[in-house]
Amino acid sequence: MSKRVSATINLAAVSHNIKVVKSKAPNSQILAMVKADAYGHGAGEIARVVENEVGGFGVATLEEAAALRDMGISIPIVLLEGFNFPHELAIAKENGLDLVVHNLDQLSTLLKDGCDGIPRLWLKLDTGMHRLGFSEDEWQAARLLVEQLDLPIEKIVMTHLACADEFNHPQTNHQITCFEHLTQDLSYPRSIANSAAIISLPELHQNWVRPGIMLYGVSPFGAKKESENLKAVMTLNASVIALKHLKAGEWVGYGATYQCPSDRLIATVSLGYGDGYPRSAPTGTPCYINGVMTELVGRVSMDMLTIDVTDVPDVKLGDQVELWGEHVHIEKVAACCNTIGYELLTGLTNRVAFNYVR
Ligand SMILES: *Cc1c(COP(=O)(O)O)cnc(C)c1O
Repeated sequence: MSKRVSATINLAAVSHNIKVVKSKAPNSQILAMVKADAYGHGAGEIARVVENEVGGFGVATLEEAAALRDMGISIPIVLLEGFNFPHELAIAKENGLDLVVHNLDQLSTLLKDGCDGIPRLWLKLDTGMHRLGFSEDEWQAARLLVEQLDLPIEKIVMTHLACADEFNHPQTNHQITCFEHLTQDLSYPRSIANSAAIISLPELHQNWVRPGIMLYGVSPFGAKKESENLKAVMTLNASVIALKHLKAGEWVGYGATYQCPSDRLIATVSLGYGDGYPRSAPTGTPCYINGVMTELVGRVSMDMLTIDVTDVPDVKLGDQVELWGEHVHIEKVAACCNTIGYELLTGLTNRVAFNYVR
């Protein structure tokens, strides 16, 4: 298994993480988020593993939805931004996709063209995120249009929280109050909770929860909090391809940003930002090799990076280095790079060889 760079996807960990969602929100249906190729894990493989465990899948694009239908996925698939270009509605109908409806133009088009073939509409309310959704002002008009839709189509009301990953953020209360106010006289099923709210705000679980990042074993709270018994699904590995005994005062890498404070053994590892490992990872970013944690030194380059292996036992060429996954929390790597695990997971390039294990 000594590929230059490999992402090993532990499918049993996905099933485990689904169980965690179920134990947290036992009375809710699960809309599993598999947008962006299942957060970079491979939507087809992830969907196959959980299709019998969840109530539906959430995707961002028609192409993502059609690919799941083409491989025979028959459970609900929700197009999270609905249709936004004229030709998209027909394709959504052909594929039997649930639509998120978030503006009056979409509703007018549905009134004109009909909803035949669309199983459900997810009416999205803007309660403060101000990205998608009917504002308070638009909602009355939207409801009138919804009532005029001819077919007895199932409807769900939903909103998305901006700050659920920060404990007791006042914006969350504001959004919930707004949602309650707008939907109090509606009997439609409701959906609010992303991973952060599934873990920390049980009162928001409602009829449908929408877990994304937690399915992949990553904490929505970043490095602030441990991962709630979640199991990392992706482990990213590369190989040691060179070893250098450097003297105190010698430098490593582009820009000569790292100077050895004492005699060091430095390993060159076979991945870089051309594989999707972030160039912003500074000296000190954690990695794991031969049973111990160590760290990056110097700049990440396109095809390689360098790590300090002075205190690592028995290092030799070909040894595997874990950049994130089972031992190295991706939340910590992300924090070193001023980003979030979501961005790292979705950023791997097609140079990375994926292998799936049960
Ligand atoms: C991506 C997404 C989610 C999942 O968010 P996580 O933080 O990954 O759990 C939930 N709802 C909507 C509308 C989304 O777009």
